[in-house]
Amino acid sequence: MRINDRKLLTQLAELGVELRPATKLSEWTSLGIGGTTDLLRISNHESIPGLLQLLDENQIPHKFLGGGSNLLVEDGELPWVVLQLVPPQPDVVLEGHLAHVDAAGDLGRTVTFCAKHDLGGMEGLIGVPGTVGGALRMNAGAYGMQIGTYVREVKLYRAATRQIETLRGHQISFEYRHTSFAPDDMMLAVILELPSKPYNEILKGIRICNEKRRSSQPLGQKSAGCIFKNPPGASAGRMIDELGLKGLSVGDARVSDRHANFFVNTGHASAKDMLALIADVRERVQKGYGVGLENEVVVWNA
Ligand SMILES: Cc1cc2nc3c(=O)[nH]c(=O)nc-3n(C[C@H](O)[C@H](O)[C@H](O)COP(=O)(O)OP(=O)(O)OC[C@H]3O[C@@H](n4cnc5c(N)ncnc54)[C@H](O)[C@@H]3O)c2cc1C
Repeated sequence: MRINDRKLLTQLAELGVELRPATKLSEWTSLGIGGTTDLLRISNHESIPGLLQLLDENQIPHKFLGGGSNLLVEDGELPWVVLQLVPPQPDVVLEGHLAHVDAAGDLGRTVTFCAKHDLGGMEGLIGVPGTVGGALRMNAGAYGMQIGTYVREVKLYRAATRQIETLRGHQISFEYRHTSFAPDDMMLAVILELPSKPYNEILKGIRICNEKRRSSQPLGQKSAGCIFKNPPGASAGRMIDELGLKGLSVGDARVSDRHANFFVNTGHASAKDMLALIADVRERVQKGYGVGLENEVVVWNA
C-alpha cells in the first residue's frame, strides 16, 4: 500500500514519522520472505495516538513490526502499511533491580547489558532474535524461562481507549507464547524486575544456552524459529521428525534437517511455498498423531 496523499504526507512529517516508501519486507524478516509496502518509523511514543487517528481517518490499515523474527509475510503488494518503533539512545536504563527498556530495544543486547550489571534470570532468551516489544507480545521463552516472569510494568498504546496506558505485571496474563494484550495493542516500553546474580554465573548460563542452540538449530539459515507451538505434553519437532519429514520441501521452503520444527528458506522461497509446506506438515501430523498443530509463527496475509 502506498501513501500518496499530499496532505497526509505533510501531517505524518509534522508528527515526526519517517516514511520509507515501497519497502520490501523480505529485507526486514528473518525468513527473508514478504512483499512490499510503505514502512512508517516512529521515534516518539507520544505521536502514536495522532498517527493512528490519521491512519483511521484515511482508512489505511496497519500492522506492527518488531524485529521480524517471528513473521511470515505474504508476497506481492501488501494491502496495509507497517509501523515500527525506532529505538531511543539509550534503550535500557537500570535502576537497582529494575531495567527500563524501550520496546524497540534489541532483546539479546538487553539480556547482555543487564548481565554485565549483575542482573540475571533471562539467560534462556540469549539467541532469541528480535525486539523486546516482540518478545513481550509473544511471551518469548526458552529453556524453562519466559520474559513474562520478569515484567513489572508495561507502557502500551491501547487500541480500545486510543490512549497510552501503563499496565502492572499482575494485570497481564503471560502464557506459553500467548499474552492477554489485545491484538492491536502496541508495546512501547517495559520495566523488568530482575534477580541479582554475579556476571560470571550469568555468563555460564548464557554459554550453556548458546551451545544448546548451536547444536540443535539451523542458525546460519533463514528461519522464524519454531513454526508450530508444542501441544500440551508433546513436542511438535519430535512428531515431525518421527514422521520422517526433515528435508520435506515446497520450492525453496524446507523442513530443516537439523530441527524439524524450524522451516527454512534455502533460497527464494515465497510465502505461498512456506504456507503450503506448513499446511502439508500440519495435515501429516494430524493424520499420524491426531494432533492439530497451532502456528507459533505469526502469519500476515490479507
Ligand atoms: C533462529 C531463531 C530462534 C528463535 N528462538 C526462539 C525461542 O527460543 N523462543 C521464542 O519464544 N521465540 C524464538 N524465536 C522467535 C522470535 O525470535 C520471537 O518470537 C521474538 O520475540 C519475536 O520478536 P520480534 O521483535 O522479531 O517480533 P516480530 O517478528 O516483528 O513480530 C511478532 C509479533 O509481535 C508483534 N509485535 C512486535 N513488536 C511489537 C510491539 N512493540 N507491540 C505490539 N506488537 C508487537 C507483531 O505485530 C507480530 O504479531 C526464534 C526465531 C529465530 C529466527
